[in-house]
Amino acid sequence: MNSQEIFSKACELMPGGVNSPVRAYRAVGMTPPFIERAEESHIFDVDGNKYVDYVGSWGPMILGHAREEVVRAVITAAVRGTSFGAPTNGEVELAQMIRNAVPSMEMMRMVNSGTEAVMSAIRAARGYTGRDYIVKFEGCYHGHSDGLLVKAGSGLLTENVPDSAGVPKAFTDTTLIARYNDLESVQRLFDQYGEKIAALIVEPVAANMGVVPPEEGFLQGLRDITKQYGTVLIFDEVITGFRLALGGAQDYYGVTPDMTTFGKIVGGGMPMAVYGGRREIMDCISPTGPVYQAGTLSGNPVAVAAGTAMLKLLMGDTAVYERLEEKSARIENAFRTAVEKYHIKAQVNRVGSLMSIFFTDRPVKSFDDVQTSDLAQFAKYFRVMKAHSMYIAPSQYEAFFVNDALSEADLQMTERAIDAALSKLFDA
Ligand SMILES: *Cc1c(COP(=O)(O)O)cnc(C)c1O
Repeated sequence: MNSQEIFSKACELMPGGVNSPVRAYRAVGMTPPFIERAEESHIFDVDGNKYVDYVGSWGPMILGHAREEVVRAVITAAVRGTSFGAPTNGEVELAQMIRNAVPSMEMMRMVNSGTEAVMSAIRAARGYTGRDYIVKFEGCYHGHSDGLLVKAGSGLLTENVPDSAGVPKAFTDTTLIARYNDLESVQRLFDQYGEKIAALIVEPVAANMGVVPPEEGFLQGLRDITKQYGTVLIFDEVITGFRLALGGAQDYYGVTPDMTTFGKIVGGGMPMAVYGGRREIMDCISPTGPVYQAGTLSGNPVAVAAGTAMLKLLMGDTAVYERLEEKSARIENAFRTAVEKYHIKAQVNRVGSLMSIFFTDRPVKSFDDVQTSDLAQFAKYFRVMKAHSMYIAPSQYEAFFVNDALSEADLQMTERAIDAALSKLFDA
């Protein structure tokens, strides 16, 4: 069966034919290719197409697909039993590796998804502080738990209305919305709610509204304000963790949060995530403290084996982040060159191996700016990239993920694809 045929069948069985909405390709008006396998920098669909992969499973595959060390670790672990529901030495070893890489992770818990990590971190922060309110930023995504499905459309201090049906208004009443890269909007919330705010959560590099880097002083400003009010600062490093540096964005920018969430890379492509931080906060988690959090498959031995193998690879090769930077800079340069050559109204944002091209003439620093992007242009660009065998995220609001397995041939092909895609937009 080809992708089209499988998709028709899938749509009978799953909403939109998929198990996560962005996979459905609706934003670009296409049906998605169904994937058969992936290897190193390439992904192969059931129709016989081979693409250069710039999605990387939305982040985890920073070293490319099916790394032998990770696959072997998974097989070895699976043969010993896929789940015990009991503690293992592997979990302890992985936790120690994480703490060595990210010293602010004094204690941690392993869970099964980024959503779960963030939800649990917020519960811990609320339990620790005895406060109810949280602050999040417009355009930042922290998984699909009820209280976080708010971005509040336009404006600051606006109605904290749920983005999703099925979320009672009462569940988001304690979620306050600030504007990314706008410390004043944060200060205003703290002026009004200060001593009631349990946690402020932020993607240290926003990567779920396209890539929007923090401006100079923004993260430090958040650190200062939260410290002043006794609010728990949570960095959601589900994307940036082990990607910008071994120590994540907190190391890259030199700002230390109270708590951190990890996902994606930390599981090496298996369902695993981690939350943790200061000991006195994590001591509030059951069974030592009153904040309940549990999981049948948490710390699953196969996922732990994959995550451990992945972190060992990253820790054992100190040049990996330099190579990622070089490859990413080269792709950024291809975008910039073509933007200039074809006089496209576009912005290129990049931090390390995360980047985005936004089709707007306005510098992109917040969700308001992101929303000025021309989505029809994006869809056109997407189609040409796909025709040139580039597997990129089918949405303006997702990042372009660079991996270390990209070869010289892949990079040259990518440069040609970018030139071709942007040449088609010159009449913008
Ligand atoms: C992907 C993501 C999540 C949610 O993780 P899931 O594993 O999809 O539940 C949370 N926060 C950020 C920043 C993410 O990118």
